Amino acid sequence: MKQQRRAPTPSVPFLPRTREEMRARGWDELDVLLVTGDAYVDHPSFGVPAIGRLLEKRGWRVGILDVPDLDADGSGWKRLPAPKLWVGVSAGTIDSMVTNYTAAKKRRSQDVYRPGGKVGRPNRATIAYTAAARHHFPGLPVVIGGLEAGPRRLAYYDYWEDKIRRSILVDAKADLLVWGMGERTALEICERLSRGEHLHGMLQTCELVPADRVPPTARVAPSFEALAADVQLSIELFNVVREENRVGGRVVAQAHGTRFVLQHPPLAPSTADEVDEYYDLPFARAWHPDHDAAGGVPALEPVRWSINTHRGCLADCTFCSITFHQGRTIQSRSEASILREAAKLSEHLDFRGTITDVGGPTANMWGMGCKLLESGKPCLNRDCLSPDVCPALRVDSASEGYRRLLAMVKQTKGIKHAFVQSGIRYDMLFSQKSATKGELLPLHHDLVANHTSGRIKLAPEHASPDVLAAMNKPGFELYERYEEAYKETCQDLGRDQHLVNYFIVGHPGTTMRDAVVLFEKLLERHYSPEQVQEFIPLPMTRGCVQYVTGRDPISGAELYVPRGGRERRLQKALVRWKDPENRLLVEESLALAEREDLLEPFRRGLRRALAPRGRRETGIALDLDTCG
Ligand code: SF4
Repeated sequence: MKQQRRAPTPSVPFLPRTREEMRARGWDELDVLLVTGDAYVDHPSFGVPAIGRLLEKRGWRVGILDVPDLDADGSGWKRLPAPKLWVGVSAGTIDSMVTNYTAAKKRRSQDVYRPGGKVGRPNRATIAYTAAARHHFPGLPVVIGGLEAGPRRLAYYDYWEDKIRRSILVDAKADLLVWGMGERTALEICERLSRGEHLHGMLQTCELVPADRVPPTARVAPSFEALAADVQLSIELFNVVREENRVGGRVVAQAHGTRFVLQHPPLAPSTADEVDEYYDLPFARAWHPDHDAAGGVPALEPVRWSINTHRGCLADCTFCSITFHQGRTIQSRSEASILREAAKLSEHLDFRGTITDVGGPTANMWGMGCKLLESGKPCLNRDCLSPDVCPALRVDSASEGYRRLLAMVKQTKGIKHAFVQSGIRYDMLFSQKSATKGELLPLHHDLVANHTSGRIKLAPEHASPDVLAAMNKPGFELYERYEEAYKETCQDLGRDQHLVNYFIVGHPGTTMRDAVVLFEKLLERHYSPEQVQEFIPLPMTRGCVQYVTGRDPISGAELYVPRGGRERRLQKALVRWKDPENRLLVEESLALAEREDLLEPFRRGLRRALAPRGRRETGIALDLDTCG
């Protein structure tokens, strides 16, 4: 890995990861110890250090015990002393099983969140770290959180073991589970414990209680034991959680034997002032210097010079757990805060003039709100983006605001480029004012002209209407309309720019015939993306319930579920059709789908793909190798 130049010493030092660093700050003890399976990277994209920075700002003494498992003799756990108040445990930025294994359940060879990208994170790290924390810091409350613990707060289907597992709170034997974004809850835990109070009943947490402590108003969900006996009950559990995951929702109670996991309802979405505060913290935007020797932490590089504009996602894509973690409401930073960060980046000694991304979970959702909810009226009781963009969304005005924001970031002194690398929702680039929905917003033009490094990332995810409906994504015809418009804009601007597409194979609802529908669209475009995502049923998602039960939990429709490894391989080969090693698999898939009519076009396409560059057939206006 290329050695990155070290950041200058930040104006505020790193949070201590050793006793020496505590002493350098004049601290003889810690209030809070945060344990994470990632290497310590002081950047707002890394959740545990970001929470640490917020607690530090409010006066709490926080230590970061990162990658404590690196030392086989357990000495990693002795780097810092037991804190005064509590220990927080997170597996890291990503769920440890997803970090350690591919969708085909093979061991990965790299872990980009750890020093030097070396693997070694324990499986189900939250459980492993909680046990170690209990051993090394006896008597202290242990609180778990993050993207591994949060979606496993109630009994869940585990893809890796192919069975229903108990809530991670029960398996980890932690005192409390914080779900969703944890900053405000972490502050409340500090305040309560410092006043000698208990941690019961806190919003956005789960706790394990005896039956006599279940509130009479709680909504009882199917128990772990019932789910384990009948996975079809996952549909009921999904709908209970979906209905109660709202501000003012009821407590959800789920029995595990004689005890109950209580899920308390969410906090109100963070205000702009709160989100600004999180991102205005003094991050070094560098890994801790102790990780220099290993060559640094690869995960920093793609995000180091990026600006996160908001949290939350309006889309309810069935395979994604972001709405369960960050919420459906878009929580945007103010323009002033974003511009402050841009100015700060431009002054950084290592900065070379390019902001690599000004975005969030979906870039063009910054500032996006709902006219009805903002005026106190009820929701139209539909999805915000499905089956089409809800007329109550302020798409036109928010898109104009985002366009202005990008221009202002680019005009900041010392910044040459302000790119958008986060995904774009192309259905939200069409004007809502246009009766035909055929007109594109000025944001589209500016993105193409000024804010891409040569490619825009779009995620149509599939091309088959049935699969897209199962995924809760817009139809492929809308993508094709945008693709046409994109090509025209590129031609008008005289730009050789591309679209990069993302597709998922193996999602519930994908028969071999559906997989061939996608293949046909790719073949038409002579396009075969480098990366293909294989569907993994993540806990709590609608896609996971579809996978487990063979039914959509909202519509009740039956869905075909491609489960076998061979079938997934065939579907993947259809997307990676230019790889000569996949030729036989593609031919087998076409035979299975009874689409032998595509054999000859496929062979022609493959010959063209493998022909030496100068002898390639032409006939397609743009370089569609990279333009989906
Ligand atoms: S009214 Fe429409 S935009 Fe507003 S919350 Fe409901 S679905 Fe979303």
